[in-house]
Amino acid sequence: MIGAPEETRLQRLINGLKLQGIDDRKVLHALEFTPRDLFVPELFLDRSWEDSAIPINCGQTISQPYIVALMTQALKIEGRHRVLEIGTGSGYQTAILARVARYVYTIERYRSLMVEAEIRHKRLMLENIIYRFGDGWEGWPEQAPFDRILVTAALPDEPSDLLNQLKPKGVLVGPLGKGSTQILVRYTRTPDGFEREDMSDVRFVPLISGVARES
Ligand code: SAH
Repeated sequence: MIGAPEETRLQRLINGLKLQGIDDRKVLHALEFTPRDLFVPELFLDRSWEDSAIPINCGQTISQPYIVALMTQALKIEGRHRVLEIGTGSGYQTAILARVARYVYTIERYRSLMVEAEIRHKRLMLENIIYRFGDGWEGWPEQAPFDRILVTAALPDEPSDLLNQLKPKGVLVGPLGKGSTQILVRYTRTPDGFEREDMSDVRFVPLISGVARES
């Protein structure tokens, strides 16, 4: 709603998330205290509090708040957890993770997006985030194993390297599929492999191998 005071728009967004089934208080709290307008390009500032994805630089998108909340809730993060995130993008989802986990390790294939995200996190005084410019498809072997892994770009295939970087009982959430619509999946590491649960249809930008060259 254009013109409404920010608090009203934020409250409207949070209430909408609750109505859609987001009931994890820590997750709702993290969204409530993370100013999304800091992560949205100037051109789209008035859409910051809408529950929709918004374009950012490098042809990428900042995810829809409902999807950010749904994925964070699905991870069942505990306060002592180390979380790996693939696809920093604007850094919005990273900031939400940083408020519910002990440490967040985040990987982005566009250096400029990573640098901009880091500046935003410093402004919010989020100091438990570790950044890597690189190809997230390979994960972060030097820092593995992780309690949780979140992938925010569409996985073309089962992410076996990433799954193998999970601790026992660890959980990975991400969109899986090669088409324009993917399915949000949750893998849990079990004593004899991985259990997969299919959640809902989602639309994400594709995960692309290798780092991006920027002019
Ligand atoms: N969570 C982000 C959404 C980013 S969109 C946000 O809230 O803003 C997905 C991001 O994944 C893009 O920034 C894209 O550049 C990045 N990405 C795609 N393939 C990647 C890869 N192989 N390794 C690391 N990052 C990747």
